[in-house]
This record gives sequence, C-alpha cells and structure tokens, in this order.
Amino acid sequence: MLSPHRASNERRELSREEIDAIRARHPIEQVVSQYADLHPSSRLLQARCPLPGHDDTGPSFTVYVQSQSFYCFGCNRGGDVFKFIQLMEHVGFRDAVDKLEGSSIVVEPTRTARQKEQANPRSRRVLDEDACHLLTAAAEVYHASLLLNDRMLNYVIGRGITMEIIKRFRLGYAIGTNLAKYFRFRGWDLQLGKDLGLVGDHGEFFRERIIIPGWQHGNAIYLVGRKTKGYQQVKYLGLPGAAKPLYGLEGVIRLREVFIVEGCFDMLTLVQWGYPAVALLGSHLKAEWEQALAFAARIFVVTDSDEAGRVSAKTIAETFGARSIIVPPLPNAKDVNELALQPKGREHFAQLVSQARHAREGERERRV
Ligand SMILES: [Zn+2]
Repeated sequence: MLSPHRASNERRELSREEIDAIRARHPIEQVVSQYADLHPSSRLLQARCPLPGHDDTGPSFTVYVQSQSFYCFGCNRGGDVFKFIQLMEHVGFRDAVDKLEGSSIVVEPTRTARQKEQANPRSRRVLDEDACHLLTAAAEVYHASLLLNDRMLNYVIGRGITMEIIKRFRLGYAIGTNLAKYFRFRGWDLQLGKDLGLVGDHGEFFRERIIIPGWQHGNAIYLVGRKTKGYQQVKYLGLPGAAKPLYGLEGVIRLREVFIVEGCFDMLTLVQWGYPAVALLGSHLKAEWEQALAFAARIFVVTDSDEAGRVSAKTIAETFGARSIIVPPLPNAKDVNELALQPKGREHFAQLVSQARHAREGERERRV
C-alpha cells in the first residue's frame, strides 16, 4: 500500500523539527483510512481495529484528530501516526518515517509542524464546559481512589512526592472499573467520556495508572497516566481527546523566573522544592507556550540528563534566547524526580541552579 523505502545505510539523522514536520504532513485520520473504514462517532473517528493480531468484532479502534493519535480499546495499543505505521507494517521508527514520506498521502507539503499548529484552530480548542466538568469529576474519582489505596499511595510517596503535593495537585489512581459506573450514577452522558478518550467499550483508558491532572481555574483540562505495572508498555499516556497543555502554567503566571522541565513528576518535585516549574510532557515546546511565558525574565531549562535531553535543552534555550539559562545535567540521575530520591538531591539541584546562574552573570560581565 505504501511505497518501498530507501536502504537504511543511506539515511541521515532527522532532527526533532523534521520529525514534527513529517508528522504534521500526514494527518493520522488520512493515514489510518487507507487501512480501515473510519466512521465518525460523536466527535471521534472509529473503526474495527486494523492492527495485526487483533481480530476486532466491535469498532474498538479510535482516532483522535485533536491530538493526532490513535488507541485501540481492544488490544490496548496506541500512539501517533509513526507508531501506527510501525505496528501496521512491522517496521521500526525510521522505516515508518520513510514509508510515510515515500507514500502518496502527502498533505500541505510546505508547512512546518509549527505553522500548522498555528493555522489549525482545533489544536488550540479549549475543552467545552461539559467536557471540563466531566474531566474534573474523573480527576476527583481518581484522587479519591488514590487516597483509599495504601499500596499506590506508598508508591507515589516512594517517588519522592509528599502528601501535601498529592492533595494540592489532586493526584489519582485509576483502578479501571469505576469511572463509567460513576458517570451512570450521576446520570451523565457516557459518550462525552468516550469523546475525551477516558473510556472505551472495553474499559478505561488509564486503568492501573497513577493519574496526574493538569489544572486551570479549578478545572481539570488534561490527564496524564503513569504506568504502575510491568505489562504496560508506555510509561506516560496523555488523554487522547484533549490538547496537551503546558503543565503547571497556572502556578507560574507573572513570576520573574520559571523552570521548564520535561516530565510531570519533575515539575511536581521542583514545585515541592519551592521552584516555579512547568512541564512540557515531552521535549517539544509548542509555539503558544512560548507566547504564554512572555512574562518571565529568566527561564531555566532543566531537561533529562541523557543525550536527547541535552539536545532538547539547547533547542528550548535557543527559542528563549538571552532569557534562558540551561541547568547542567543532573549528577547520577536521569531526571529531577530521580534526583529527588537521592539523600542530598535537593541540595545538589540548588547548587546546579546557582552555578548556572553565576556562569550566566559572569558571561554578561565579561561582555560589558
Ligand atoms: Zn486493536
């Protein structure tokens, strides 16, 4: 169905921007529709699952145009357009990229991901009142479940997160069986929960995951689910039916200094240590977030310690120019949350920040 790709030894590395641009050129609904009959259902597109190994009887397979992702509630596989091609065609990431680029499903070939993001009003769509209401209720159901579950509560505390933060951010746990029951009990339309991607015909999207909600004006606007079980392949899942927000933005508005981190547990750790922090939930900084942080005079960039983290720190710092300060890689820790588990983690972090700050001030003085 898709054309053959070039041999792997001719290929060069692709930058993050190039990968984003390729993703943006291939709307997932168009790619999936080459393999399955997608039918609109409320605000979603659904189909019988076309993935190998799943003999689907229902329409278990859902495409979320909003977040450009898919998820099958039958075989529990999901991801973006690259992941779809990887699963469909039994190939690795890079081959999936080449297959897409070599295919005929090319739309808007001159646009970059960022231009598309700005041009597409749906990507900036705010959840409507009903969706916000339902999502907030779901977050509260999950929060109550966490407080009642000693094992999971200890697990979160074991990640270095205090009870105070658990309650302030209303962290939760998805048992996986009580959301639909609760919605029915309240007399709410379950379809809305399906539109958001919270529930499918085969159960809850976030089952057996720690839930970290994103908040705005007292309403949950997004959920992230962290894996707790070995069988769960994806470490962090984002709510499919809503646009990803900049986590923690509400807490830093109009502050002089802001710390940007990658993961939501990193953000929670820094907030707990008294730093004003926001999380990208990945490494990509959306153009609208760049504008949202216009008030900050100093932006500290704290990424994961690996090579990918270093690359994304540079990219983010370049975006903010002279306002940005990169905090050097964390000693013996993959990320801030892991640093929090070390006896002197907090002190080490404070040292790194002050080193980075002084290095920058020294640079300025030398220039004068
Ligand atoms: Zn499936």
